[in-house]
Amino acid sequence: MKSSRREVFKKSAAYALFFGALFGGGVFISPKLYAKNIHLRPPGALDENEFLATCIKCGQCIQVCPYHSIDMYDITQLNSIGTPYIDANERGCYLCDLFPCILSCPTGSLQHEVTTADDINMGVAYVNDIDNCFAFIGKRVEKDDLKMILSHSNKNEKESEVLEKVQNYVGKECTICADMCPYPDKQSAIEMVYETNETFPKINQKCVGCGVCAELCPSSVISIIPRKTYEEVYA
Ligand code: SF4
Ligand code: SF4
Ligand code: SF4
Repeated sequence: MKSSRREVFKKSAAYALFFGALFGGGVFISPKLYAKNIHLRPPGALDENEFLATCIKCGQCIQVCPYHSIDMYDITQLNSIGTPYIDANERGCYLCDLFPCILSCPTGSLQHEVTTADDINMGVAYVNDIDNCFAFIGKRVEKDDLKMILSHSNKNEKESEVLEKVQNYVGKECTICADMCPYPDKQSAIEMVYETNETFPKINQKCVGCGVCAELCPSSVISIIPRKTYEEVYA
């Protein structure tokens, strides 16, 4: 078995241990299931309980987001109804300068002290299916691979710019996740690793869980674990 693949399996085992320990009793909860049940909130969100207690569901953050990254939970989400969330598969958060979502929040549920990308901790990314990563299997990006991504919101210049950049990968090797990460020092959040016989993306310590890599991966092999740090998931 190739060494990097072993590394991936080791990480999978670490996730299992982490989530088993997290929920106690040795019960294994997969990262995917965890991610489905814990909400990915906009940047700067207070701890979940405080967030739920203070957010007045005014929708200001949703209104000002230029990437249309934020949506509002409907009645199916019971105690979270009316609160803002991010579905990284539809649109990640592009870590805008000055964080308009935070500035617009009248209650501080999105904390006004959060002013730089370094202050953000929305969650952390992980590669959930390395065997289908285009870079890992040596598959070039084809036009059809981008169909879903190109159907995402495209209502203004910023959104068009993102989608145009992704289209430029057609016919090329896939390094979309690492190239499109909006964290200022991308490589400290995600990088492509080039080994003798294989290439793969590696999540690094500064990943803030913004979800852009998950949104733009043409093979949908990246997920976000909300509300967790790199250390909690990978250490
Ligand atoms: S930082 Fe920008 S892209 Fe991210 S949620 Fe706030 S307004 Fe939207
Ligand atoms: S690797 Fe980059 S794009 Fe992906 S979640 Fe982390 S910070 Fe965002
Ligand atoms: S964007 Fe997806 S398919 Fe492309 S290199 Fe990253 S993980 Fe692999």
